[in-house]
Amino acid sequence: MSVIDILKSNAADYGIEISSDLEGKLEKYAELLKDWNEKINLTAILDDEGIAVKHFLDCLLVSKVADFKKGDRVIDVGTGAGFPGLVIAAAYPDVEVTLLDSTGKKLKAVENMAQEMGVKNAEVIHMRAEEAGKKPEFREKYDFATARAVAELRVLLEYTLPFVKVGGTFLSLKGASAVDEIDGAKNSLKTLGGKIEGINEFTLPGGDKRAIINVKKISHIPPKFPRVSAQIAKKPL
Ligand code: SAM
Repeated sequence: MSVIDILKSNAADYGIEISSDLEGKLEKYAELLKDWNEKINLTAILDDEGIAVKHFLDCLLVSKVADFKKGDRVIDVGTGAGFPGLVIAAAYPDVEVTLLDSTGKKLKAVENMAQEMGVKNAEVIHMRAEEAGKKPEFREKYDFATARAVAELRVLLEYTLPFVKVGGTFLSLKGASAVDEIDGAKNSLKTLGGKIEGINEFTLPGGDKRAIINVKKISHIPPKFPRVSAQIAKKPL
């Protein structure tokens, strides 16, 4: 079975429909991921089943939680090879997606893949999250932030919440550790104006546990945040 056949047969069980437009884009994405990975290390998951389930389906689970509207702005922090941001851009052509990462060579691949896939609603930003979050052009400008496999939640909140408008949402894609990470993030949430709205738990085909933590931004971030990287690492909130 092809990546798309595996994806479609599994997505149906989660009530996720794969349109023919999305199918074409993701088919190309899978092909390009394999090609680019021969040049640079983009992802360890490269078999068809893994790409279909652990990358594409995992990222599309966001659609079960988020209510993206036309014109919404989404920033994917630490996008790596484009997960979940490029999948979101492919699935929602009416949403504006910013793919941010501190590793330039990955972004070069992502930019090329987006172009080859025919994704026109994504831009890449090569910057550290804690630097971009200080800049007026990015600060509190997004309806949604997303992140997968970037940092533990209490640190991730300092990376992501600066981008989110008050009333907007951060969606944190996590594994089995989600509940423990929320326990450890109480101070970070309080300091940065975040409130847990819910946790949506999923089991991927094959049994891996996934959780999407939905964090609402309820107040402005104090100007001193985000702090510089060294401080965040030394004294996480
Ligand atoms: N989100 C992708 C995924 O789920 O496959 C990539 C995960 S990869 C393990 C973590 C990525 O986050 C790397 O590409 C790294 O460069 C990026 N990253 C880590 N800390 C960052 C920061 N402070 N600002 C921007 N990008 C960061």
